[in-house]
Amino acid sequence: MRTVNMSNEQTSTDVILIGAGIMSATLGALLKELAPDWKIRVFEKLSKAGEESSNEWNNAGTGHAALCELNYTSEKPDGSIDISKAIKVNEEYQVSKQFWSYLVESKLIRNPQDFIMPLPHMSFVHGEKNVAYLKKRYEAMTANPLFEGMEFSDDPATLKKWIPLMMNERASKEPIAATKIDTGTDVNFGALTRMLFDHLKTKNVEINYKHSVDNMRRANDGSWELKVRNVDSGVVERHKAKFVFIGSGGGSLHLLQKSGIPEGRGIGGFPVSGLFMVCTNPEVAEQHHAKVYGKAPVGAPPMSVPHLDTRYIDNKKSLLFGPFAGFSPKFLKTGSMFDLITSVKPYNVVTMLSAGVKEMGLTKYLIEQVMLSKEKRMEALREFIPNAKSEDWDLVVAGQRVQVIKDTPTGRGTLQFGTEVISAADGSIAALLGASPGASTAVSVMLEVINRCFPQHIKEWEPKLKKMIPSYGVKLLQNPELIHEIHTSTARTLGLAGELQRAK
Ligand SMILES: Cc1cc2nc3c(=O)[nH]c(=O)nc-3n(C[C@H](O)[C@H](O)[C@H](O)COP(=O)(O)OP(=O)(O)OC[C@H]3O[C@@H](n4cnc5c(N)ncnc54)[C@H](O)[C@@H]3O)c2cc1C
Repeated sequence: MRTVNMSNEQTSTDVILIGAGIMSATLGALLKELAPDWKIRVFEKLSKAGEESSNEWNNAGTGHAALCELNYTSEKPDGSIDISKAIKVNEEYQVSKQFWSYLVESKLIRNPQDFIMPLPHMSFVHGEKNVAYLKKRYEAMTANPLFEGMEFSDDPATLKKWIPLMMNERASKEPIAATKIDTGTDVNFGALTRMLFDHLKTKNVEINYKHSVDNMRRANDGSWELKVRNVDSGVVERHKAKFVFIGSGGGSLHLLQKSGIPEGRGIGGFPVSGLFMVCTNPEVAEQHHAKVYGKAPVGAPPMSVPHLDTRYIDNKKSLLFGPFAGFSPKFLKTGSMFDLITSVKPYNVVTMLSAGVKEMGLTKYLIEQVMLSKEKRMEALREFIPNAKSEDWDLVVAGQRVQVIKDTPTGRGTLQFGTEVISAADGSIAALLGASPGASTAVSVMLEVINRCFPQHIKEWEPKLKKMIPSYGVKLLQNPELIHEIHTSTARTLGLAGELQRAK
């Protein structure tokens, strides 16, 4: 029988954040500004912050503002384009940019170019039908002040100027078109996560790496008692907090289940893995300067829309292509092969089985994707770069995304592609599930956690919230002047020159 080495130490604190990814980092940074006296503790099972999905090599680093992602702008049956999802995502990204600007202006984080770079965002399509769709989308979006500055072209000479690497040796006579907007960004979410945790450390936040939260229960006084294992020594400690945030990425579902809150029942998770191809050959990387999103192949989930991105990581420019989705039963890149099976509980088994039946096609697609050879992946890449050479490109394994499965009015076991905040009715615990649009919207999602879990403080915190996020509580779309003001001020503070030019 295994003996558990228990520590007698028991601590009590205001807030515990489980996981040191971008979500906990953002919530910690917001709370430290709103309630500086609150004691915050972080438990992270790995040895550093930002090592799972938030790591720069585990995600695509797109500052998702719905400038180029075609899955946010679907075509309605009457042929018109629905841009409501794009508006929501864009507004959420403006919230992130405002908070990051506040942190830079207040000197709480350093040089913004260590985590954010201006980069044109483009959509690229081929085939007559897709070109017509893109044109309609462009017209619908440019009528909206949030997407001002977007350009459209189906002229090969213009496209050659915008995306020379993609136009070189393009033999096909098929019609092609692209849109381009210079206010896009490439974000190093790993660097941002680390910067935020460095900042939190200076504010007396106790960050415990190599500490895995294995279980939790509600204590008699309504607070939460966590069983935390020191990964190196195996010693198990107990830590109490009045509020717990489960920001454990793919690990969140299991911990939510362990909390036993009724709001977490009936929810399941479906893991989708990702692979990218990376080119670090400077000669090739220098010929491309954009994030170019295409259309997802038929049957592919929205998160596997192919895109060719310029990335800025460790002051080096590289190119990233993908993601190629795949199937792995792990919920974290560093997770276990039993993650999927152990997430099936009596209370979510019907939901999970219903999703299994409905999503047979998706599972088959993902398994086929895992089996693709490098040459097959190169073929997909050559739709973007016709003369791409195999020796310039390496495969890298990206992070795991655990998509939420839940029962909705449209049916049992429906796969969700967004993020979901699940919180207890008394606001003492909240978990973040799902991964899309992801890190880009961390600030709005963490504001949702704050609104749900600390409603009694919101009035008192409102002036500070407005100082940090001038558009707090305001729909940007109804305030074109505020949009302009925010674009100009965040571009100046975050060093996004492209944005400044546009704002002139
Ligand atoms: C392939 C891919 C591409 C993506 N592209 C983009 C993109 O272009 N733009 C974008 O905005 N978003 C993107 N995302 C989504 C984005 O990466 C995630 O939404 C975001 O990083 C999630 O942050 P997090 O803090 O919730 O989780 P994570 O960064 O995964 O952090 C969770 C942390 O919790 C820790 N943990 C887990 N269980 C425990 C436990 N029991 N005890 C202690 N610690 C624990 C983990 O070790 C980890 O460090 C992408 C994701 C993937 C996988």
